[in-house]
Amino acid sequence: MSFDLLVTGGTVVFPGRKPEPQSVGISGGRITALIAPGETVTDARNTVDATGLHVFPGIIDCHVHFGFAEPVTEYSTETHYAAMGGFTTIVGYFLSNESYRAVFQRELALAAPRAHVDFAFHCSVANETHLREMGDYVRDFGVTSFKYFMNFKGEEGRYLGLDGTDDGYFYDLLRAAVRLGDPLIVCHTENIEIVNRIRRRYQAEGKTSFRDWCESKPAITEAENLVRAIYFAEKTGARIYIPHVSSELALADYRRHRRDFEHCYLETCPHYLTHTMDMDLGSVYKANPPLRTRADVDALWAALADGTIHVLASDHVPRKRATKEKGIWQASQGFPGTATVLPVVLSEGYHKGRISLARIAEVLCREPARLFDLAPAKGDIRVGADGDLTLVDLDLSRKVDPAELGSHSDYSPYEGWTLKGWPVRTIVRGTTVMDRHKVVGAPGHGRYLHRTRSAAHAG
Ligand SMILES: [Zn+2]
Repeated sequence: MSFDLLVTGGTVVFPGRKPEPQSVGISGGRITALIAPGETVTDARNTVDATGLHVFPGIIDCHVHFGFAEPVTEYSTETHYAAMGGFTTIVGYFLSNESYRAVFQRELALAAPRAHVDFAFHCSVANETHLREMGDYVRDFGVTSFKYFMNFKGEEGRYLGLDGTDDGYFYDLLRAAVRLGDPLIVCHTENIEIVNRIRRRYQAEGKTSFRDWCESKPAITEAENLVRAIYFAEKTGARIYIPHVSSELALADYRRHRRDFEHCYLETCPHYLTHTMDMDLGSVYKANPPLRTRADVDALWAALADGTIHVLASDHVPRKRATKEKGIWQASQGFPGTATVLPVVLSEGYHKGRISLARIAEVLCREPARLFDLAPAKGDIRVGADGDLTLVDLDLSRKVDPAELGSHSDYSPYEGWTLKGWPVRTIVRGTTVMDRHKVVGAPGHGRYLHRTRSAAHAG
């Protein structure tokens, strides 16, 4: 057997099963052999000694946002940042009121020469043009996931420069998805009518704390819309995915309703597993959904470990800190996150006995690959898959320093935290793009992933 690259001596972490000592052979960008200890290897052009390291399938961040860093260079900075965090693939959201025909061509031309890791796009659908053209986006651009904001109703949508939508639009969107071969509909679930009344009342009362802001979006606003989204999906037959689930209440309602409808999938994000509204954090930590309570944190860890939650993703928004240092009602929402996902789940999850390595490989590799039509090329270590690997030193402790990670953003919710368990090498299709906390690959190595529903199994 001869290989372009042989990763030898490491412990391979397979999604859903016990880690095993194996070597991984890669040729032509794909995995061509898994070699048990003791088997002979004749020849490899390059060898990486992974002794003492764990070898994960290339990890996938299926929830990042494009359009918040410097317009042209964001594909360079944010894929650099992803590579630093061990990510081999990112899937980013566009949100625009334009036709995505124009957006897609323009953004792909900017991304292709700059990306360090593989990438794909989701489109947010918010107007009649998007609905009419959805089939073209699936067929021509390989976009098989669309986001719908249940909170961008009427005035709320127009305030953001979008046409306002409503339940009639949502119903048509789900029916269109079924006709188009079941692209996944990502539903932001938030009952904005409840939020708006609470916000107006709090503002009139002069409330301005971080906790006030969090409490203006109580868990019922997430859970009620989640139940309605499941109801709509069940009645139309569409497949839905709920991003950034943040509350114990939403988990309980999901468990109750998924008995009747299985094509609904959940995602959570690291900050809901580590931060609470009591931490007195200030406007910089404003995210939507908001941070919640210790009981919610514990419920989310349990649900991530037991399979209720399918995917862990960052909700990465690479703005500068200054855009967030405003009054609590004016500050922008979201914060950067891709590069700290793995150290957070290893440090706060694995090392604290809350989640196994095999389960981490499911929520960061196999499940996002399956649900977003990146499988079978991505998401697992098997012969025939892309040679994407994330090499991890479980015992390495480092302090989070945003300046070292390379995002356009200049802060992190984990700034100053010492986390144990870091990626030390990122390999994309057989090429090392990050080695020991330095990006070494050439820009443009990352490829656009044109997705097709038929390439993945249904489910
Ligand atoms: Zn998001």
